Amino acid sequence: MPVTRFLAEQAWLPAAALPAADVLIEVADGRFTAVEPGVNPVPPDSTRLPGLTLPGLANTHSHAFHRALRGRTHRGRGTFWTWRDRMYAAAERLDPDSYLALARATYAEMALAGITCVGEFHYLHHDADGRRYADPNAMSAALVDAAAQAGIRITLLDTCYLTASVDGAALAGTQRRFGDGDAAAWAERVGAFQPAGDHARVAAAVHSVRAVPAEQIPAVVDWADEREAPLHVHLSEQRAENRACLAHYHRTPTELLADAGALGPRTTAVHATHLTDSDRTELGDTETGVCFCPTTERDLADGFGPARALVDAGSPLSLGSDSHAVIDLFEEARAVELDERLHTERRGHFSPAELLRAATVTGHAALGWPDAGTIAVGQRADLVTVRLDSVRTAGVEPAGAIFAAAAADVSTVVVDGRVVVSGGGHVALDVPSALTAAIGAVVS
Ligand SMILES: [Zn+2]
Repeated sequence: MPVTRFLAEQAWLPAAALPAADVLIEVADGRFTAVEPGVNPVPPDSTRLPGLTLPGLANTHSHAFHRALRGRTHRGRGTFWTWRDRMYAAAERLDPDSYLALARATYAEMALAGITCVGEFHYLHHDADGRRYADPNAMSAALVDAAAQAGIRITLLDTCYLTASVDGAALAGTQRRFGDGDAAAWAERVGAFQPAGDHARVAAAVHSVRAVPAEQIPAVVDWADEREAPLHVHLSEQRAENRACLAHYHRTPTELLADAGALGPRTTAVHATHLTDSDRTELGDTETGVCFCPTTERDLADGFGPARALVDAGSPLSLGSDSHAVIDLFEEARAVELDERLHTERRGHFSPAELLRAATVTGHAALGWPDAGTIAVGQRADLVTVRLDSVRTAGVEPAGAIFAAAAADVSTVVVDGRVVVSGGGHVALDVPSALTAAIGAVVS
């Protein structure tokens, strides 16, 4: 079995508060077979990785087609509604071919940013009239194919989306593309999907308490339970969702999900922004994960959630770029700490090592890849090397790089032992050109 050797100038190893120096990393058959710090001089057959090498980053929450909206929703001043109008206009134009091109370019941008696995919260299932394609999972297949071509892993979070409002209004217009009718039909469609390639897994999502009636949620939970698959759900992203849920069900969204059996260690609540104290306790007591998406939450004026309190209550924290206003997990990670600082007027809520865990091992676990996200023998061989000689990172301490680096500082990315990014460029795709062409095809 061929062995590849890397010598990382600095590498962040599991459970360490600081990076280690001169780390020899051996890879065979897509796994780490040796990890040894303090190796000097450089073994002659190894590839040097100058800078700071991190485990693969997990982007736990993505809607790939939202990438087409970046910088296009601020006309005038831009409101949530101008954003949503443009989002629906882009959704209306997509078909399996154009979605393959857009998602491939978006996932390649993620690869350039050091993301080795994406959780795609996918609800754009059907054709423009809301009818099933000849292959009812054609859009899912396009996303799985896109990830393969971009060189990253994917967990397809196939999303149940049934109603337009908490009180059960029918889907209309573009939203008809999202709906399967009921949760049983959703389960039947998803159950027939066999993703092509060992880079892909299928899991479940409940769009939100707005889009799935309470009595339909247990069928989605059962589907995930039977397969021991992750279950993701948008939770309390905006106060309006909480008000509508309280008015209709006389419960908070968290209470409703708890009553439906939807909380637990395989569940990730995305956003978890506007919570009551008892919501927070419920999420923590059930070890339900939370995924924060700070760059999207600030772009959409959603607010920000109680990250430290949730983690202290028992909820593992992961991160997502969600609407892709920005694709940069360093920015997402430090924003968790910086938002807490703004709110409390104090520093020091999360250590760099904790933020890195959110961006790596916790995110991978939330997406159903417990053997990824750490540089350790036996784990999947994902590596992300960050330059420490760029205009942003020159002179910083390696341990503080998460507060200084940008996605553009990623020089090398290895996914399951394969080099996907080298010298800061994608090995297979001209990513800016691919983005320009794919976005041009779906926006006016
Ligand atoms: Zn989302």
